[in-house]
Amino acid sequence: MKAHHLLLQLNTWANRFHLPHFGVYSENRPLTFFINKKQFSTGPSTFNKDKPHCNVGTIGHIDHGKTTLSAALTTILARKATDKSNRTLAMSYEDIDRAPDERARGITINACHVNFETSKRTYAHTDCPGHIDYIKNMICGANQMDAAILVVAATDGQMPQTREHLMLAKQIGIEHIVVYINKVDLVDKETVELVELELRELLNSYGFDDESTPFVTGSAKCALEGEQPEIGEASILKLCDVLDSYVPDPVRDIDGTLLIPLEQAFSVPGRGTVAVGTIERGILHKGQHIELLGHGRSMRTIATDVQIFKKSVPKAVAGENVGVLLRGVKPEYIERGMVLAEKDTVTQGDTFEAQIYVLKSSEGGRHQAITNKYMHQTFCGFWSLNSCLLLDDSQKMIMPGDTSTVKLFLRKPMVAKQGQRFSMREQKRTTVTGVITGQLESVGEKFQGFNYTPVNRTSYLTEKQQKKERQ
Ligand code: GDP
Ligand code: MG
Repeated sequence: MKAHHLLLQLNTWANRFHLPHFGVYSENRPLTFFINKKQFSTGPSTFNKDKPHCNVGTIGHIDHGKTTLSAALTTILARKATDKSNRTLAMSYEDIDRAPDERARGITINACHVNFETSKRTYAHTDCPGHIDYIKNMICGANQMDAAILVVAATDGQMPQTREHLMLAKQIGIEHIVVYINKVDLVDKETVELVELELRELLNSYGFDDESTPFVTGSAKCALEGEQPEIGEASILKLCDVLDSYVPDPVRDIDGTLLIPLEQAFSVPGRGTVAVGTIERGILHKGQHIELLGHGRSMRTIATDVQIFKKSVPKAVAGENVGVLLRGVKPEYIERGMVLAEKDTVTQGDTFEAQIYVLKSSEGGRHQAITNKYMHQTFCGFWSLNSCLLLDDSQKMIMPGDTSTVKLFLRKPMVAKQGQRFSMREQKRTTVTGVITGQLESVGEKFQGFNYTPVNRTSYLTEKQQKKERQ
């Protein structure tokens, strides 16, 4: 048995009998272990929430300095922090770029979540390594961004991925963009002005408010390396001020019934299964009885521990990213796209009414019309799944550039709410975008190789539960 396993076991017992913890443990650095490259702390320290929370992330063309900026933000804020309670953890460029592979079940999204804190708010910030990771994270990431930091290198100006990310940001409902013009150490003033002018035009063409969008110019590299503070550090502090003032406090649905779309799950030896997700509505209390459902499966369980920023909390509210320790659930049971909800408050279904728009080839969509039983990967809020469009008998096809009402038939029953947006992708193109307008009775159509057969439920139960079920 390795030393840290022993410590973990000791601390588990300590937890049970309310004893002080063993080993290298302090209030600021609770004993943490890397499990599936994610941390889940075993420390009992609590985390008091006094500031509003906001989810942001970088977007922009490759090599424009998104990762450098993320590293600079955490490094400078951690250094500048005057009060001891500031929770910003400095992250190096390498730490952020080595984004954990969220291969979990389902699709792989490489994303790195870092946290920083200003005098006004706490932020969770997402950076992805590659272009396709950004696309996936925006279309089906469980982590909804409240605002995006668009990074544009002054040396290049806007580039294809700048435009694609902006278009997607608009589609998924991001309203606030803050622009950071990077690498100003390499160009003269006129170039920066030209880039800004061009970008305001671009923002306008995608339907963002180009006049009020704040622009910050600077050099993330200088900030990170501590050179030329007037374009380095000062620009980072200005960016934080702009985020604090321009992005309004996100309105969270705290009074609604609990709903947590899950991103992933992993097991912590000696403790159990931890599910990770951002609370969309309501409040989650430690010890609450909840229901886990999605992908045609459902199960009742208890949230035996709730953690935020890797620290135990008695409760967590909408908008916060939490790790929930679930009683008696195997990690294999949980898939991206499942939800945790209050008992009997949400239902899953496989047939929905939807209003769709078929993208024209000039918008990156299809040349041909789509016909009945158009079947492709569908990205909807927090899940992605193969699904099929069923057209009315009166409709033979839908031409690119047209809108229509159709039935969306999913391979498995899932949780989806009215007003939820989705898009369908064919190879590398987005061909259909739409919005769910209601849930319908299952059409129960069978297509070869499409439908899903429910898995035997007992195969997911722990040994103890199987024994109980057999009795
Ligand atoms: P990403 O692909 O958008 O994440 O870009 P990176 O953060 O990986 O940066 C790409 C390259 O640009 C790296 O070699 C950085 O060192 C460099 N870089 C980033 N910011 C600046 C800057 O402000 N000035 C200069 N000269 N180089 C920068
Ligand atoms: Mg990067």
